[in-house]
Amino acid sequence: MSPTEFEQLWQQVCERPVAPLDSPEFGAGGALDAGIAARGRLRKLERFGGAVFPVSPLYVTSVCKERCTYCNYRAGSTDPDLKRTRLSVAELEREVRFLVEERGLRAVELVYASDPLIRVDDICRHVELTARILARHGRPAVGLSAEPATVADYRRLRDAGLAFSVVWMETYDPLRYRELHPGRQIKTDFSWRLESYERMIEAGLDGIGYGVLSGLADWRRDWSMLAVHQRWLRRRYGRGPNILGIPRLRPAPGAPYVPGPNLPADGGFRSLVAWHNALFPEVMPFVSTREPFETCLQLAAGGGCLFTLNCSTVPGGYTFDHRGAQFRTGDYDALCFAPRLCAAGLKTDWAWKAATCYTVGV
Ligand code: SF4
Repeated sequence: MSPTEFEQLWQQVCERPVAPLDSPEFGAGGALDAGIAARGRLRKLERFGGAVFPVSPLYVTSVCKERCTYCNYRAGSTDPDLKRTRLSVAELEREVRFLVEERGLRAVELVYASDPLIRVDDICRHVELTARILARHGRPAVGLSAEPATVADYRRLRDAGLAFSVVWMETYDPLRYRELHPGRQIKTDFSWRLESYERMIEAGLDGIGYGVLSGLADWRRDWSMLAVHQRWLRRRYGRGPNILGIPRLRPAPGAPYVPGPNLPADGGFRSLVAWHNALFPEVMPFVSTREPFETCLQLAAGGGCLFTLNCSTVPGGYTFDHRGAQFRTGDYDALCFAPRLCAAGLKTDWAWKAATCYTVGV
């Protein structure tokens, strides 16, 4: 998407958010929200029959050259508990084996801060290692959350066994984006991030995740822009992202930004996810442990989502005594919480496969 095309779409959304997000009734807890919730659940049920796909994040490094004002891992973080850690290959293997062999996970998302000493070669080796361990238990589903890459690098990662890659846009508001990402590092380049979805499509990744960090900017505009972006990509490339990140801002102890009036309240947040589900039921929300477990169950209504079980946002947080989380989360241990998913009428599909789940919608 060229800067001119983006500017036109962004101006439209600023003038009027996509309906019904433009309504003062949206998120107010009335009939509009109830109707959206019911429709989102129904459309998910029709397509996925209540199946959810468990996944765990595995942080590989907390060393970061960026200065995102809302993140505890930012360069210059003031958190006294933060101990920067970069896992060795042996440590990474121990963490993967814990999730796979002791907790039964069959999908692992490798998460990287923008570490100046980690190159794509390293990430390829990590993906191969993780895929190898997962393959002993069936089909591997290895995901990636890292700074956007080139088409060539995404192809190398795909060839190494990467099933899905997520890049959260954080916010589509270019002025807010600039304020929140000071400095001159890679993340300050709004266009490079915006165009990463096109590069992932070109590289042929099965799973592509987009999303905004709700709480950073006007959520009516940001979520409207998600729908506009999805439709634009489908028109241009015949497919769009098939994973929807739904992180909602949590306070980070070593970062200056504090969530304010832009943070959607619980009801409005649930309605945003249900609205996106109704519009694009084939796109799977990535339900995260930033939210209380009961909220996670509500967000997963009807199924068709990635559901985080076990979560540490510390490299080495599963099997080592490392401290200093990127943000506070729940840790919904798979052994205890998977039965609660079933009790809520959801079916856990442990051995999900990226290529079949990620139906390309047009
Ligand atoms: S959000 Fe990511 S890139 Fe930004 S400071 Fe945190 S870890 Fe680094």
